[in-house]
Amino acid sequence: MKSTEETMQHDDHHHHHGDHDNHFSEMQARVKALETVLTQKGLIDPAAIDAIVETYETKIGPRNGARIVAKSWTEPDFADWLKADATAAIASLGYSGRQGEHMRAVFNTPDTHNLIVCTLCSCYPWAVLGLPPVWYKAPPYRARAVIDPRGVLAEFGVVLPETTKIRVWDSTAELRYLVIPERPSGTEGFDAERLADLVTRDAMIGTGLVRLPEAV
Ligand code: FE
Repeated sequence: MKSTEETMQHDDHHHHHGDHDNHFSEMQARVKALETVLTQKGLIDPAAIDAIVETYETKIGPRNGARIVAKSWTEPDFADWLKADATAAIASLGYSGRQGEHMRAVFNTPDTHNLIVCTLCSCYPWAVLGLPPVWYKAPPYRARAVIDPRGVLAEFGVVLPETTKIRVWDSTAELRYLVIPERPSGTEGFDAERLADLVTRDAMIGTGLVRLPEAV
């Protein structure tokens, strides 16, 4: 997994030749400049921004999504609700707000695997997965997930049978997706917390699979 991230960042680097020369990337520099101007004008409080960033870095992470997946595995009624109205079902667990306002849950089946991307920028369901990984925001992933999803999955170490269809979902500012992987066999009798331990962040983006019960 690490090598894939490195590969993608490496590729990304080749597309932005100027980045070597500056301490900040162009985007970081723009963000910094904006923050400075807005602070000087009294429009924002840097402490408030720090608090928001800290919340998403440390308090809100993929565990939220993993709990949703585990609940859908153990409670068929919840799974049905998730299919019909993911926004409401997810909000019922208290996960809502920034970048998670409109959600759709896409369920993997034996013949369909779902993969999430934002081809335009980096839209991501923050409320259930926390901050997006670097590779998710990188141009190589955003471009290639659509053109060659099977090849991208292979780089993540996920090799699916040729008969398994891969559906790629393009996130937008209005609608974000959460992949609901299939419950692995051998997990009968697991409680929800133990099931959540099997659900990785990447399994909910579609670039990974759930852990096997032997692993936890
Ligand atoms: Fe986006």
